[in-house]
Amino acid sequence: MERIRVLIAGSGPAGYTAAIYAARANQAPVVYAGMELGGQLTTTTVVENFPGFPEGIDGTVLVDNMRRQAERVGAQIRTGTITSCDLSSRPFKVTIDGSVTVEADSLIIATGASAKYLGIPGEQEFRGSGVSACATCDGFFYRKQDVAVIGGGDTACEEAVYLAGMCRKVYMIVRRDQMRASKAMQDKVASKDNIEVLWNSLPKEVEGDLKGVNGIKIEDKLSGETRTVPVSGVFLAVGHHPNSEVFAPWVKTDKDGYIVTEPDSPKTNIAGVFAAGDVMDVHYKQAITAAASGCRAAIEADRFLQGQ
Ligand code: NAP
Repeated sequence: MERIRVLIAGSGPAGYTAAIYAARANQAPVVYAGMELGGQLTTTTVVENFPGFPEGIDGTVLVDNMRRQAERVGAQIRTGTITSCDLSSRPFKVTIDGSVTVEADSLIIATGASAKYLGIPGEQEFRGSGVSACATCDGFFYRKQDVAVIGGGDTACEEAVYLAGMCRKVYMIVRRDQMRASKAMQDKVASKDNIEVLWNSLPKEVEGDLKGVNGIKIEDKLSGETRTVPVSGVFLAVGHHPNSEVFAPWVKTDKDGYIVTEPDSPKTNIAGVFAAGDVMDVHYKQAITAAASGCRAAIEADRFLQGQ
């Protein structure tokens, strides 16, 4: 059976940064890229908040550059998704695509998180041309326009407040008569004159044409009436889903599925298993924070292996 010193699961900024650092530490890392090659960055357009690119950079190009950089310094990038693992003893046993099993002396879990979508008509059709799940990534493109944020949690409030700073008007579409968000976040929303909360509103359809989104159809839960709110952007904030299921039987996760690490560390509850990026990041979920945590995970994996 093949034995890998540092096996990295996931091919977003966390996984590739971990690969760059582990390769430069001569730990011969192998990255299994997973289902969504390149991760969430590939679902955005121009990334303008990753330092080093004054003109911005296409998300797919950015993550592809990371891949090429990792390969250039010696990391192996393989297609394949981890479908099961046995982390009960070392070397860990990791099965790829349900068929090949390899052994790993250390494991960096960087499988990311996937935004939840609603499954309403128009949503997938206009993904990238009016429908987004990341205000920080895409909000800039809707400057001085009207947009809608769907959801009533902390993320929705954060996104609405962020968008209120650049958009003309932000509608928050909340399906109940109250928000799930913390009082502090709701207060921030209430302090913005250009945010209007539409309570008891169920999103039904994203409407648009060849130019992109031009409205969101909502149903008033109490009256049953439907109407279209004219907006050019629809931001989904109905939660993220960390991609931790495969590891959850072994690695400690919180109630939402995020991998729990030691405070200020990428170490999980299992020695030799580290987590980086959105699969363990409840708060920031940015490409740059994911990259930084990938670096930390690789440094800790190297220290762990040196200590063996
Ligand atoms: P969340 O707390 O699960 O909230 C999701 C929101 O989307 C809820 O308002 C929910 O409505 C709504 N929703 C879900 N499915 C929907 C559907 N099909 N149609 C319409 N609305 C739908 O998710 P989150 O806001 O991403 O937060 C996740 C975790 O991160 C939370 O623990 C949160 O506190 C934390 N967080 C904290 C901060 C902060 O502290 N600043 C910032 C961001 C996130 P219902 O309420 O009716 O279910």
